[in-house]
Amino acid sequence: RCFCKLQGEVDDCSCKVESLDSLNNNKIYPILTSLLSRNYFRYFKVNLKKSCPFWSDDSRCALRDCHVNVCQKDEVPIKIPDVDTHSEKHERNKYLKELNEGKQGFEERCAEERELGALDATISEEKKAEFQTWKEYDETLPLFCDIDDEHSNDMEYVDLLLNPERYTGYKGPSPRRIWRSIYEENCFKPEKNYGYGPDYGKDASIESSMCLEKRVFFRLISGLHTSINIHLCDKYLFPAKNGFGQSYWDHNLQEFQQRFDPALTHDQGPQRLKNLYFTYLIELRALAKAAPYLKQKGFYTGDNQEDEDVQKGVNDLLDIIRKFPDHFDESQLFKGNTKEMQQLKSEFVLHFRNISRIMDCVGCDKCKLWGKLQVLGMGTALKILFSGDSMGPDSIVKSQDKDFQLTRTEIVALFNAFGRLSSSIHAIETFRKLAS
Ligand code: FAD
Repeated sequence: RCFCKLQGEVDDCSCKVESLDSLNNNKIYPILTSLLSRNYFRYFKVNLKKSCPFWSDDSRCALRDCHVNVCQKDEVPIKIPDVDTHSEKHERNKYLKELNEGKQGFEERCAEERELGALDATISEEKKAEFQTWKEYDETLPLFCDIDDEHSNDMEYVDLLLNPERYTGYKGPSPRRIWRSIYEENCFKPEKNYGYGPDYGKDASIESSMCLEKRVFFRLISGLHTSINIHLCDKYLFPAKNGFGQSYWDHNLQEFQQRFDPALTHDQGPQRLKNLYFTYLIELRALAKAAPYLKQKGFYTGDNQEDEDVQKGVNDLLDIIRKFPDHFDESQLFKGNTKEMQQLKSEFVLHFRNISRIMDCVGCDKCKLWGKLQVLGMGTALKILFSGDSMGPDSIVKSQDKDFQLTRTEIVALFNAFGRLSSSIHAIETFRKLAS
């Protein structure tokens, strides 16, 4: 039996992993995959040019230095981002040593990272003209909240199908700093041994020292991290066989095992996989709650037939989701109107907002694109869960709720973020089969 054959209840929920596997792999994944290839969902409007608000050597630094200072010449990079922890210094030295030893030629590595992380920005002139009509239509809708920089000139449409989330070679000090900053500075965590980074211990337990709300936050982020890492294992770039022919994309079972096998992860792997199911449940519940609103929404692209088909596909999907019996119960969170609870709620929001800003520091454009999309999708799910008069598995957001609106970008992010989680759960099934 593969270690990835998870069983039992998802932590902090009464729902079983097995029933989510069956719901997702048999029903949701096929419909969602087809929906996300439609025009409404495949073009995501995003600003990838915002500078990193937290570090002076900003997001592009990791790759920019590589490109400008070093790639042209055959030498070791002189400006790998400054690092300040022991483990990152170690990581950096290891990296430099590898480069010096010529394990993988630096130029080669840069070229590979640049190529894999680069965005395909091809959008036809015809499509660009069409986007203008989408924009005009959207601007007639009242906006509940202004997403970051919705009106900035740097907002651009990206074709998600041309830029799939997969292995990019983004590793080393830059992503480590991002994850560390997310977990250590912007995530709630137990006092010690909380299961992140090199210091975790075998007895890591987030149950004992954290309240439900903090556990939820941690699991959400950890589930997202799991999903990102599953995708890079699922769509991995292998070098040409025997040094001949072309490199090729395939599932990498060994990489998956290294990240999730309990024997290789201080027993953390299965818990991290379970956190993926938790994150999935949260977004599933958000879609169920917003179903009446989304069914009335209209998915405008200007092509009547296409728009009708998409609305029908969305309705079918939402009907399946609404019927699921074991939804997460958000009314268990932030119970009681005490000062402490209010404080906790604001911290929750603040931490989350910070994490969305950290996404501007990701040093690989393709990773940044998907990171921003998934964090926005998760933020939209949280906005839905905590909107409306009532909370709990039967509550809904009605289309006539005056105070509730979602922008096109939020909807596209929500469905695509959920699509990522769905595809990760589907990929676990693939790895199970490969391992057996
Ligand atoms: P990392 O994944 O960097 O993890 C760092 C530490 O976090 C680990 O040592 C471990 O202790 C802990 N950890 C790992 N997983 C979890 C978890 N689920 N819950 C709690 N703790 C955990 N790479 C790509 O190839 N393609 C991409 O599209 C891509 N997108 C990315 C998007 C973002 C926003 C970021 C920050 C990184 C992305 N990466 C991507 C890089 C990728 O996530 C890893 O950082 C990279 O592969 C290096 O992996 P690692 O083994 O060093 O550990």
